[in-house]
Amino acid sequence: MQKGFIKNKEDFTCEQCGLFVQGNGYTNHCHNCFHSKHVDIQPGDRAADCKGLMKPTEVSGSTRNITITHTCALCGFTRNNKLQEEDNVTKLAELITVLNSRK
Ligand SMILES: [Zn+2]
Ligand SMILES: [Zn+2]
Repeated sequence: MQKGFIKNKEDFTCEQCGLFVQGNGYTNHCHNCFHSKHVDIQPGDRAADCKGLMKPTEVSGSTRNITITHTCALCGFTRNNKLQEEDNVTKLAELITVLNSRK
């Protein structure tokens, strides 16, 4: 693999809202509440022992190229993730509103 991304299809159930997320090899966060899990050291490697809940803490970028920053609730590890096609844009708008109101 040239890009350092190990494709790893994996279904998971969101620990935050209980949504069942069907893995497409790139999905690493819930499409509903955008929470993720600290399972990777390099994207897709599932090599992290932490397994902490990764909370969406920042949304940046423009409409077509949105980046969601996740921060691990346990160890503080942060990672940037691209918005996925399956992501719920209505929920994303709500998330942005919540994040902005905290600033
Ligand atoms: Zn969720
Ligand atoms: Zn962690």
